[in-house]
Amino acid sequence: MQQQFSLTPPLVPIAGSDAGFPVRRIYCVARNYAEHAREMGSSGREAPFFFMKPADAALPVAAGTTGPMKYPPKTADLHHEVELVVAIGRGGRNIAAASAYEHIFGYAIGLDMTRRDLQAELKKQGRPWDVAKGFDQSAPIGAIQPAAAIGHPAQGAIRLDVNGDERQRGDLADMIWWVPEIVAILSEYFELAPGDLIFTGTPAGVGPVKRGDVLFGSIENVGSLSVAIA
Ligand code: MN
Repeated sequence: MQQQFSLTPPLVPIAGSDAGFPVRRIYCVARNYAEHAREMGSSGREAPFFFMKPADAALPVAAGTTGPMKYPPKTADLHHEVELVVAIGRGGRNIAAASAYEHIFGYAIGLDMTRRDLQAELKKQGRPWDVAKGFDQSAPIGAIQPAAAIGHPAQGAIRLDVNGDERQRGDLADMIWWVPEIVAILSEYFELAPGDLIFTGTPAGVGPVKRGDVLFGSIENVGSLSVAIA
């Protein structure tokens, strides 16, 4: 008998629609809020740098529900990073910042979960970050709000609570590289396509979570995301 293979991309819920957003790639921007860049040991406005997570690292969480995330193996220091996520609806290469919004389908709130102890060791050795950043379920994400409904948020509170205590708080206006610039620069390196997600960096206050913790993130005018660490 011939073996059959099939792959189904993760589908992220789209607010106000029965359709899902099929994930093609997950790009992430590092150190995009000044205060967080400082807590990670950098200074000033360096060119943005990118890393990726596999598409199936996405952990879609429907609105009003709490997504269960398994505590990943090989770490004793799992960190939360709450981020604005851009969902690409129209692809392109060498996109100009001035026309970047035309390529964005919508926005969501996401968590760039990180095995910080592994990342610290990889940084020290100058090695790639994949095992620290691209593990299974490392990208919880809430429903995508179409830009047609909410516009393109350039400011607004972004925050994360753990068990009801505030851990991270920032404002989208404090991004070092703003969304159109990120789309423009990323599209110089990769041809963007519908289904791509871009995690745009996290504000200060990253820290560890443990089994049993409940994470609640929110971004003004974009939505909220609830995840329980199992
Ligand atoms: Mn991040």
